[in-house]
Amino acid sequence: MLPIRKKIVLFDIDGTLFDSRFFGERVRTQFTKTFKIDLVEVENVSSKYFENLESGTDFHPQAFIKFLAGKLAIKNAVLWKIFWENEENYKKALYPEVTKTLCQLVTNNKLGIYSQGFRKFQLHKLSQSGILDFFQKEYIFISRRKLRPSLTKSMPESSVIVDNHPGVVEKLNSTKRFNIIWLNRISNEKMASIQTIKKLGDLITP
Ligand SMILES: [Mg+2]
Repeated sequence: MLPIRKKIVLFDIDGTLFDSRFFGERVRTQFTKTFKIDLVEVENVSSKYFENLESGTDFHPQAFIKFLAGKLAIKNAVLWKIFWENEENYKKALYPEVTKTLCQLVTNNKLGIYSQGFRKFQLHKLSQSGILDFFQKEYIFISRRKLRPSLTKSMPESSVIVDNHPGVVEKLNSTKRFNIIWLNRISNEKMASIQTIKKLGDLITP
């Protein structure tokens, strides 16, 4: 693909910049080691928390930790410290090519975020992993449901949007307001009308 230049480029967070699945597994493993409890037990309780959510994007860190601490009868404050304050966990959850790609793109483009979830947690992932400063405040778009027209209509026309979610990219593409790039790390599938890349580094290699 052609190198991106002088554009507004908005990145999804989970599954695009940040491997939230890896982060979750790593944190749960640390919980089990710290409290000497069975991983299966931690995973079962975590799943129960998620089952009660209308959408995964309603995940709320404090509520999750409180739920876990209550069900497992362990200390909330210690769990919280592991979850929220361990910078290393966030850094390790960045996909390998993220920092290098953002570093190159930021010199010729304006970078931003297009993500869903609780704003404070989404921004925390970026700050703890060390990439928040790549993004301009006015181009950070975060909502609990990212496809809400109130959000998408507020995003600059013709922005390049990079997202790993097929449903999101198809829906956004249908608005014809943006240049969509689908990041598909998991298969060789491509979309006929939407540019597809296999890894983030493909944005900077011609
Ligand atoms: Mg995503």
